[in-house]
Amino acid sequence: MMLDRPVALVTGASRGIGRACAVELARSGFDIAVNYLADEAGALETVRLVEQAGGRAVALQCDVSMYDAAKHLVQCSEELLGPIEVLVGNAGITRDALLIRMSEDDWDQVLDTNLKGVYNVTKWAVRSMARRRRGRIVNISSVVALRGNPGQANYAAAKAGIIGFTKSLAKEMARYGITANVVAPGYISTDMTENLPLDVKEAFKRQIPLGRPGTPADVAYAVAFLSSPQAGYITGQVLPVDGGLSSGLIL
Ligand code: NDP
Repeated sequence: MMLDRPVALVTGASRGIGRACAVELARSGFDIAVNYLADEAGALETVRLVEQAGGRAVALQCDVSMYDAAKHLVQCSEELLGPIEVLVGNAGITRDALLIRMSEDDWDQVLDTNLKGVYNVTKWAVRSMARRRRGRIVNISSVVALRGNPGQANYAAAKAGIIGFTKSLAKEMARYGITANVVAPGYISTDMTENLPLDVKEAFKRQIPLGRPGTPADVAYAVAFLSSPQAGYITGQVLPVDGGLSSGLIL
């Protein structure tokens, strides 16, 4: 058994960007706690891919929007794999509607999962990081936080909140040697974007200077870098991974 691999907890790792982060971090030498909400089969497939990449992994069901459940998630992860070195706050949902039609429930669900979920898990994970005076936090925001998007006021607000949260955390945690950064993906091909109307997809693609949607792996490479020892002097930053979408490049 490998005893000294560090541990990463990735929320929302049953598919998409979270799964790619789990696999890339495993390739970089981490054991992985694979969190999911409902898709147990997907989470177990991520576990299999992590093991194939040389790491140990456990699948841990938890709704990150629930405060006490998030505490339990962190405790289970630490009991089963060891102290958390890297936390990737990736779990997220969309409930798109123009504000005029956006229900209170659409607002609450997105804020509770995407923003409060990040607070909930980070709150418990930083405790042992602070005790051990080491750790990396990488939260997944969105290009939408930087430029807004019609129909996504709830999502943009949550994702912008993640940036303010992470920048504050970076300042609070620097004294413990813990870094906290944000990755802001653009348009990435996953289940989340699969069901967008064709005209919206085409409009997005036309605005991407590099001319293609991103892949989950494109995002995972950035997350793995920010989780690495080589990124130890980078904190409080927002790294767009968006093919130039947010850069203002005009072709
Ligand atoms: P997917 O919809 O493919 O996957 C979402 C993941 O989040 C799943 O693993 C899902 O678990 C999990 N999840 C959802 N709600 C909860 C919850 N309450 N508790 C725990 N886990 C939960 O999304 P993507 O991979 O596309 O997106 C990943 C992150 O990247 C999200 O935060 C998203 O906002 C962000 N992002 C995505 C972009 C894109 O273009 N795809 C662009 C910018 C940002 P389960 O499968 O069990 O339901």
